[in-house]
Amino acid sequence: MPRTGDLNISAISFDVDATLIDTDRVIMRSMQSVRDELILCVPGGRAQDLSVEQMWYIRDQVEKGFTGNLRDYDEIRKRSFIKMLDHVGHTGPDISTRLNEVYLKHRYEEIEPYGDVVPALNALGPHFKLGLLSNGNNYPEYFGLAERFDFAIFAQDIGIEKPDPRTFQIAARRAGCDLDQLLHVGDSLETDVEGAQAVGVRAVWLNREGKPNDSGIKPDYEIALLTELPALLGID
Ligand SMILES: [Mg+2]
Repeated sequence: MPRTGDLNISAISFDVDATLIDTDRVIMRSMQSVRDELILCVPGGRAQDLSVEQMWYIRDQVEKGFTGNLRDYDEIRKRSFIKMLDHVGHTGPDISTRLNEVYLKHRYEEIEPYGDVVPALNALGPHFKLGLLSNGNNYPEYFGLAERFDFAIFAQDIGIEKPDPRTFQIAARRAGCDLDQLLHVGDSLETDVEGAQAVGVRAVWLNREGKPNDSGIKPDYEIALLTELPALLGID
């Protein structure tokens, strides 16, 4: 794979979920803690029969029914917990707020970046402006890396989400570079790679699990670990 060292890259934007942090693992664990709380609070054993997978199914159904372009995760979660309480036949006082607190405690206090993140940032930081461009809600202060990024753009704050071309244009502006000087790195072929390429931003597909690519989308570069980036960018 060719190096990008001669391509005049001056800034790198990173997706967050499944790129810098193992979001699925964190949210599954958080939902498990809500299940534990439900079992404690709802007598009669019906909560025991509710699996974490069913809880996610309920949550996803609520999200699907949510209208509007942008997802309000907090509201989706609260409505989901009310539905789950209904599902297990809870008739006592509303404890959806309590469930939300349990969820959030685990959701935002136990996020750790993947092991390759800090070494990659250490190597890249002296050479490039680094930033975040995310459709999610995991701000860098939640995983201890706020000071490592020159910019952090979150869809819910700007009112548009990847692959909207404007998100990449905003990233380039915040990085102070032209679109062809920005390199975007992310795990999604559709939102990260295709979105970036549509406005002339080069894109790295982070394929941590070696998935086949039958999408027809051709990333400029493909890596399995973020620590491959320095060599790709001509840094020894
Ligand atoms: Mg992602």
